[in-house]
Amino acid sequence: MRPHSARPSFFALHIILGMAVCFLIGFIASVAWASGTEAGATPALRSSLFDYFPARPSLRSDTGSGIAPRGPAIAIVIDDLGSSEARTRRAMALPSAVTLSFLPYPVATPALAAEAARDGHEILVHVPMQPLSARHNPGPMALKVGQSPEEITRRLLWALSRVPDHKGVNNHEGSRFTLDRAALEPVMQTLAEKNLFFLDSRTIGHSKASLVARAYDVPTAGRDVFLDDTISASAVARELGNLERQARKHGIAIAIGHPHDVTMAALERWTAAVAEKGFTLVPVSTAIRMEEARPTASAALLPSGS
Ligand SMILES: [Zn+2]
Repeated sequence: MRPHSARPSFFALHIILGMAVCFLIGFIASVAWASGTEAGATPALRSSLFDYFPARPSLRSDTGSGIAPRGPAIAIVIDDLGSSEARTRRAMALPSAVTLSFLPYPVATPALAAEAARDGHEILVHVPMQPLSARHNPGPMALKVGQSPEEITRRLLWALSRVPDHKGVNNHEGSRFTLDRAALEPVMQTLAEKNLFFLDSRTIGHSKASLVARAYDVPTAGRDVFLDDTISASAVARELGNLERQARKHGIAIAIGHPHDVTMAALERWTAAVAEKGFTLVPVSTAIRMEEARPTASAALLPSGS
C-alpha cells in the first residue's frame, strides 16, 4: 500500500508546486506591469500639475496685481510719450497691460497720462537724466551730475507732479547720470519715500541705478530688450523674437519701445497673438515683483535635499 499511497502524494506535491510557481510568475508579472504603468503615469501627472500651477506657483502671492501669469511673462513699456498727441494715442490704443511712460515736460502730458490711467494702463514718469554725449539733449529740467541733492530732488518732484497716477519711474537718456552713485542717491531716497519703483532703461551697460535702488529698498529691474534701437520693421521683429526667447529662458522679460510707426504696427500685431503663443503680458510692476522674487522662487522649486 505504501508505494500506492506515496505516488499520488508525489503528484499532488508537483501540482501544488506548479500552482505556486504559476502564481509567483503571475504575481511578479502583475507587479512589474503595475509599476511600469505607475512609472509611465508619474511624468504625466507631474506635467498636468505643472499645467495647473503654471510658471513659478510660489510667485502667485507676490505679483500683488492679482495677475497669475500663465506661461512666461512679458512686460512692454512704451516711453517718450506726451510730446506727440497722435503717437501717444496710438500707444494708448494698445492693450491695457502695456505700460506707458510719459515725459514730464510736454504740455499735453497731465491730461493724456490721466486718460491712459483711466483706460487701465500702468503709468511711469520718464525722468530726463544727463546723457554722456552733449549732443543728446535730454530736455528741460533734466537731472544732472554735479547738481546738489536738493536740486536733484526738486527736479524729480516736479517731474512726478507732472504725470498723474504714476506707479514708478524710468530714465530718459541718463547714460551719464546713472553712472553716478552720489547723484542717484537723492533720486532713490525720494522714490523710497513715495513707494515708487525704478525701471532702469539701461542706456549704458554698467549703470549703477539698480545697485543704488536696492540700497534704498526701491523695487527695481532693468530693461532686457530695446525693441527699436534700429527703427525698421525687420529690426523690431528680430527684437520681439529676442524678447520671446528671453522670456522663455528666464520666465520674465522686460522690453522698452518708442511710439515710432514701425514699433506700433509690430506691437499691434504681436499683442493680438501673444496669448496664443503662450505668453502673458503683464504691467512692468508685476514683472519687477516677479524678478525680485525670483531667487526665492527658484530655491522653492528645487527638489528637496539638493
Ligand atoms: Zn526716452
